Amino acid sequence: MEKNAFDTLWNPVTGCMRNCEYCYARDVAKQFFYEGETLDAPPELQRTWIRDSSGSGAGNHVLRYPVDTVDGKPVPYPFGFAPTFHRYLLNDCTAREGRNILVCSMADLFGDWVPDSWIDEVMQACEKAPQHNYLFLTKNVKRYCKNEGGYGVPVAENMWYGTTITKWDDVGRFDYLPAFCNTFVSIEPLLEDIKPGKCNIMFRQVNWFIIGAETGRRKDKVVPKRKWIEDIVNECRKNGKPVFMKSSLAEIWGGPLIREFPDGLKKL
Ligand code: SF4
Repeated sequence: MEKNAFDTLWNPVTGCMRNCEYCYARDVAKQFFYEGETLDAPPELQRTWIRDSSGSGAGNHVLRYPVDTVDGKPVPYPFGFAPTFHRYLLNDCTAREGRNILVCSMADLFGDWVPDSWIDEVMQACEKAPQHNYLFLTKNVKRYCKNEGGYGVPVAENMWYGTTITKWDDVGRFDYLPAFCNTFVSIEPLLEDIKPGKCNIMFRQVNWFIIGAETGRRKDKVVPKRKWIEDIVNECRKNGKPVFMKSSLAEIWGGPLIREFPDGLKKL
């Protein structure tokens, strides 16, 4: 079986207001959009969604979806890509054996529009199942940090905080990864040369690097140059940092993909 960077994807919150042109999650979510009647349901079975970018408050609308199907068809994203809290999924991580879980691959959980209360409930669910490692990924990395006016994430051995970097201009984000925590950088999709030699502090400080290319069939899709990838790998090597290549690099890389894990995430 192919080795993945994460064992499990867990999506108690979905949807995002950032509108990145290459977003695969938006395409997936829109396929499952369903605008149907609403029913009553107890709070733990409700989904809450945000209609506008004002975030919490008047823009929140509580609807219900006590079931995952409508007319026999699955409807995992009834509100399309509108930020949605699927509260009924909070207890989904109780599987006994430990896993490396990517939290909210279909959202940016730390987007400014996400209410603190949603993040609180996700963090509490993580606390209840400490046998797993939880990996978070955001472009709004300042929200990890309380001293930047952000949420202030918990520090624990099994919590991993990451940010996405696609271009040279994004590199400064790593500087806001929370101190005293396990960290990673997802360089996916790699859209240009990120000049790894000029950001070697990042390669010294961060624990793990994931590299991937854009997928899908977007008109202006970027196919990264092999040299951009080589430079990242070389900088990881210089600093003794593990690197994981996604399958999307297979053709460009042309040889066996490098698939390394940091100590805390070695297969559990
Ligand atoms: S931040 Fe992530 S989830 Fe949000 S639009 Fe961009 S790629 Fe999609």
